[in-house]
Amino acid sequence: MNNEKYQKSADLLARAKKVLAGGVSSEFRKYNHPHALFYSHGSGSRIYDVDGNEYRDFTLSQGPLILGHSHPEVLKAVNDYSAKGQLFAGQHIMELELAEKLQELIPSAEMMRFCLDGSEAVQTAFRVARSKTGKSKFLRFEGHYHGWLDNVCYGISTPSPEALGPRAVPSPNPWSQGLPPDSINEFHLLPWNDLELVKAKLAESHHEIAAIITEPIMCNNGCILPNEGYLQGLRDLCDEYNIALIFDEVITGFRIGLGGAQTFFGITPDMSIFAKAIGSGYPISAIVGKKEWIEEISSARVIHAGTMNTANPTVAAAMATVSFLERENPYAKMFELGDQLRAGLRELAKKTGHNMIVSGIGPIIHTGFSDGEGLNEFRDVLKLDKAKLGQFIAGLHNDGVRVIGRGLWYLSAIHTEDDILHALKSVEKVLTQMN
Ligand code: PLP
Repeated sequence: MNNEKYQKSADLLARAKKVLAGGVSSEFRKYNHPHALFYSHGSGSRIYDVDGNEYRDFTLSQGPLILGHSHPEVLKAVNDYSAKGQLFAGQHIMELELAEKLQELIPSAEMMRFCLDGSEAVQTAFRVARSKTGKSKFLRFEGHYHGWLDNVCYGISTPSPEALGPRAVPSPNPWSQGLPPDSINEFHLLPWNDLELVKAKLAESHHEIAAIITEPIMCNNGCILPNEGYLQGLRDLCDEYNIALIFDEVITGFRIGLGGAQTFFGITPDMSIFAKAIGSGYPISAIVGKKEWIEEISSARVIHAGTMNTANPTVAAAMATVSFLERENPYAKMFELGDQLRAGLRELAKKTGHNMIVSGIGPIIHTGFSDGEGLNEFRDVLKLDKAKLGQFIAGLHNDGVRVIGRGLWYLSAIHTEDDILHALKSVEKVLTQMN
């Protein structure tokens, strides 16, 4: 790797390490190639670092930039609405209009509250579930990421596949030090996509489980689709045992359709979490849910608050994003381009003799390397060849194609066939070099 290419970033990172913990403002930003980089600007499907390197960006900045970088409609809306003020600490019309729009588009969104990010919206949903059911724990799944806060900071990082322990009683493996000892008692953990395990767990523990939370597609690890009947099975079990079904749509929301995965699969959860793409890069999220559940907040039995909630720029960005997506309806194109990229990747893997597994749906694509079969759960993802993936991602990055380090690619509404062909050209070059 020619590190001179990243010299300015390297110098800035050395300076940053003296003042920002680890040189960054979020843990995930450390894991870039060849190290955390500094960026100067982004436009459409491209982003530029301070050394002047251009990248076709398939990270969408960890997902939010569903309209690409610096979309003129988003920037204009933000500027115009910010000119009226930045934060009223009171209600404003656009926030009402945004809520009405989400109500119209998302099946479970009978009522909602806005927050700043996915992590806090998830915690709000847990609070609602506990309050309404009178039970205290939640059930979640290995490899599903629901933010970085205490009670979900388990089951996403593991030293080895063996460290996961038995399938029926997985080891939670904390991701961080400093977690309150009791946070481990707030949840049950299971492998995903195995309804029999959920049935068995609920038969014995339903009396203490207030909620089941799941990414409706396991986007954070392998981009794995739910098995036929799995989400419906969760829905039925939640109904049977008075448990809140929570869909964490932080990634799927606005990405596989305006109604999220719940519309795509035709399963309506009790509550769902939307963040990332709804704000096109501005900090806004929503906990939405059926009226009977969000009533816990309406009645103030559950407290939800936040000084910065629905600041003008964030609401304007969300409104501009949803207006664009409704007007242009880019989903058919995004799905076509996603299929084209997946097919191209598979073909190149075959041509160059690499054991690349390509998964995903629509504009979410995952690439990993393994001699094994396909991916069905986190345990399969852990068996993927990390070193080979690292080599692949670093090679692409060095060639101007930016992909999330764990092999995840996102397409935005403004990616074009040219972006796909450009990326596939790089992929061919890198896979050939890796032989
Ligand atoms: N849920 C899912 C599925 C996510 O992917 C993320 C973040 O990547 C979160 C929740 C946490 O959201 P945030 O980073 O906005 O707090």
